[in-house]
Amino acid sequence: MKKQTKDFKEWCIKNNIETDLNITYLTKIKYGGRDRLRELVRIRDKHTCTKCKIKWVEGDRRFDVHQKIKTKDCLTLNDTDDMFTICHFCNFNLKENLDAMKNAIRKDKKVKNLST
Ligand SMILES: [Zn+2]
Repeated sequence: MKKQTKDFKEWCIKNNIETDLNITYLTKIKYGGRDRLRELVRIRDKHTCTKCKIKWVEGDRRFDVHQKIKTKDCLTLNDTDDMFTICHFCNFNLKENLDAMKNAIRKDKKVKNLST
């Protein structure tokens, strides 16, 4: 068994996900990387916001996945422990995002001032 397959099987067991599908079929994302891990987190959390518990409706824009630790560039299955599904509303209201937005607005103002 390939290492990735083995890791994924172990991940499924750890997260109580019953599937015979491989990682590609389960997530419907062919190539590895951040997006696929994010989709796995959504599947693990049953497409439910971990804050307000509303459930994602198929066809709607996918819920966000929040990552507690953002320093890493290369994520692995182990990093999903620090990731959780969050709806757009709750994500918008996360303190750190509000702060980031304030900073972005400030920067934006600065740029505008320079150009006038
Ligand atoms: Zn929510």
